[in-house]
Amino acid sequence: MNLDKLQNWLQDNNFDVAYISDPITIAYFTGFSMDPDERIFSLVAFKDAEPFVFTPALNVEEAKNSEWNGDVYGYLDSENPWAIIADNVKKRTNEYKNWAIEKNNLSVAHYQNLHAQFPDSDFNGNVSPFVDHIRLYKTPEEVEKLKAAGREADFAFQVGFDAIRTGATERSIAGQIEYQLKIQKGVMHQSFETIVQAGKNAANPHLGPTMNKIEPNELVLFDLGTMHDGYASDSSRTVAYGEISDKEREIYEVDREAQQAAIDAAKPGITAEELDSVARDIITKAGYGEYFIHRLGHGIGKHVHEFPSIVQGNDLVIEEGMCFSIEPGIYIPGFAGVRIEDCGVVTKNGYEPFTHTSKELKVLPLKD
Ligand code: MN
Repeated sequence: MNLDKLQNWLQDNNFDVAYISDPITIAYFTGFSMDPDERIFSLVAFKDAEPFVFTPALNVEEAKNSEWNGDVYGYLDSENPWAIIADNVKKRTNEYKNWAIEKNNLSVAHYQNLHAQFPDSDFNGNVSPFVDHIRLYKTPEEVEKLKAAGREADFAFQVGFDAIRTGATERSIAGQIEYQLKIQKGVMHQSFETIVQAGKNAANPHLGPTMNKIEPNELVLFDLGTMHDGYASDSSRTVAYGEISDKEREIYEVDREAQQAAIDAAKPGITAEELDSVARDIITKAGYGEYFIHRLGHGIGKHVHEFPSIVQGNDLVIEEGMCFSIEPGIYIPGFAGVRIEDCGVVTKNGYEPFTHTSKELKVLPLKD
């Protein structure tokens, strides 16, 4: 179990206590997940004592009825959560000198409140790199959830393609996608805000859906994903609405070739930066290198962006079980943008995408 790995890490590195504060990390270790807003939610684990989950009082029952079988302690809004955490730590063990905290997540204010309860303890340990490392390798159960999320993304593309018509706003198409996901697939959350961009808006890679109206004969870019049982999908497709120009067709085909080449090259043994280069070299040779303005990909799992980062300068060797996106893009300001993206898992000798919506240029008929 994942929590055993954390306890082993504490022992190997001679830390007494780990204070885990990122809800996604807590879910990874305990199977229990929730959004605490500004309240305190944590997992406290020990070198040699039983871990506990700490939540606001209003979430205690939910935590006890979850997959988590260990102790759960709560606090009322009128109580000092840090004092209750400290009491429970001291009840469990006399060893709380060396702490490891999640430096990527714990706010300075929360850190100071925790430290004030243990003024003689040392909080220099950082559990974040360890968590990032073990989350690089997905179990078969995790991969199944990522595939299920990918199937929801494929469904979402179909809804989006069907919704395109002259005069529809980008935002209304995004809304139809999210509505149909909710009512037909029971999706509770998107993994990020659905992106629909038409024409020159697609040259701004992360511009949200605007009130811009779809016009005939332009490219429309979709980037979307869902959360399925705590795991994210993330995929992009670009389609033609009516007839597009030769140049638009050219950037589409260059991007598609780059994306397919990287999918074919992804396997154990290649490094992250070599994989980035496979796609980047094709786009650069075609004359569009300056318009590919982001890394090739990012890891995916419980979070839509995690490690590994598929980027120049990262010599990490790709291994079986790693899951990440392959998403080259070409963005020509004031003209158009193309991005084609799949996430997938590295297998024994290749890469298996989680999304299967066709990447041949789709030309949608004009609709009023
Ligand atoms: Mn992505």
